[in-house]
Amino acid sequence: MYKVNEIFCSLQGEGFWTGTPMVFVRLSGCNLRCPFCDTAHEAGEQLEAEEILARVRAAGANSSLPGAQGVCRVCLTGGEPLLQVDGRLTGLLHEAGYSLHLETNGTREVPSGIDWVTCSPKEDVHGLSGNGTVVLEKADELKLVLAPGVDPERWAAFPATWHFLQPCAGADGSSNVPEVVSYVLAHPLWRLSLQTHKLLNIR
Ligand code: SF4
Repeated sequence: MYKVNEIFCSLQGEGFWTGTPMVFVRLSGCNLRCPFCDTAHEAGEQLEAEEILARVRAAGANSSLPGAQGVCRVCLTGGEPLLQVDGRLTGLLHEAGYSLHLETNGTREVPSGIDWVTCSPKEDVHGLSGNGTVVLEKADELKLVLAPGVDPERWAAFPATWHFLQPCAGADGSSNVPEVVSYVLAHPLWRLSLQTHKLLNIR
């Protein structure tokens, strides 16, 4: 059984695959507490892998997004999905023809069968609760949130095909977008990632 917070179809809002239709499987719970976490992920429903697959299919079929019926990508997210994702779930989704994306804080090993790994490290974040030490040794995409305490230079050598830097909203609603834009202009290894789903007011 897996504790699942929600399953829905939308456009990927961040990073390399921004704008791409996906079915999101948000697994409940996280091993970290980030001060800026904006995801309500704790609540959830216990589901078997087969039930998750059925809801993934239904999410694509029932989505109001044009073309969503053809969605072939599933994004396993959270919370921290690797507290629960295993070979049984990835195998079932793969056999059903889905390409699997994973968004992780990098503190757990990735099981086989993941097609795209996005690592979003939190270990340097000021005010972090929990052990955020990254054990992942590589990723397709590194997505770094420029929160207080985070130095992109430290992560520049991380073995990832793409390096994205994302602004962080402050507790008062302020944003450090100008700081991120300046950094990316001066360090072209990095690309700007925005939470475009929020800009578009979609999920
Ligand atoms: S790692 Fe992600 S889901 Fe977990 S607390 Fe931090 S921002 Fe939230």
